[in-house]
Amino acid sequence: MRPAPRALLLLLLCLPLPARALPPLADIHVHFKWNQEEVTPAGEAIRILLANNIALALVIGTPAEHALKLQQLAPQRILPIWSPYREPGDWSTWAFDKSVLERARHALASGRWYGIGELHLISGFTPAWETPVISGLIELAIEHAVPVLLHTEYSETRHLGALCRSHPELKIIWAHAGAVLTPGQVAEVMGSCPGVWTELSARDPWRYVNNPITGGDGRLLPEWRQLLESYPDRFLVGSDPVWPVERLDSWDQADTGWQQYGRFVGFHRAWLKALPPEMEEKLRLTNALRLFGKEAITQQ
Ligand SMILES: [Zn+2]
Repeated sequence: MRPAPRALLLLLLCLPLPARALPPLADIHVHFKWNQEEVTPAGEAIRILLANNIALALVIGTPAEHALKLQQLAPQRILPIWSPYREPGDWSTWAFDKSVLERARHALASGRWYGIGELHLISGFTPAWETPVISGLIELAIEHAVPVLLHTEYSETRHLGALCRSHPELKIIWAHAGAVLTPGQVAEVMGSCPGVWTELSARDPWRYVNNPITGGDGRLLPEWRQLLESYPDRFLVGSDPVWPVERLDSWDQADTGWQQYGRFVGFHRAWLKALPPEMEEKLRLTNALRLFGKEAITQQ
């Protein structure tokens, strides 16, 4: 039976406004750290995700178990991934920490985690990927058929290119499209490594400000648009709600990133809107659903 117009109107009025106005989006780069929880408790974080109509969120906890707090509140929407980071500064030392592999093995055996990351591979800090901790995590990801979320910061693509070509069966989610790389460099990696999915979190006007993907009008720069059109099935978007960002992992102050969430994700919604509808939907939602086998999630 068709609902009477009045009943329909009432139903619509009951939905929160943004959920009506915004199409669903998959956010592939979300943090929930102890110094974020101080500002934004788990319940408030979920309210923010719902207000922004986030259908799926890949969440990195610091410590890892923090991601499970969000998952408990919204099990259909939250995919926790396992992070080795527990202490301030771990982003720069994790690859030397012999306890990481044992902890990762134990965590992944539980079946609760949808991936490993975010792992920082940073010029001047991180050893070669062939070293035991990094290569061991890669093997574990392959064994459990889960992706690794890698944040690389090198001025060239040699490191990631060698890593992904050596592990064609590994799925890599490449954070921030290489953070500082050009579309041509990103294309080099994606062209030679079909297992690399590239996400554009933090490539916004407030982070990586010297490496924008959009122009002053908020639209993708032509060279970025061309790159996305070349690989429309392997790009993803994300918020990376970390703030402030003067320093990497500024643990000694409260992180207010969740309070900026709407602005971060709104930036991506704006440039997505200018794409052809089929491509827009892939980047906004369905590529991420496919990557995690969640196609059944209805497009709320
Ligand atoms: Zn991150």
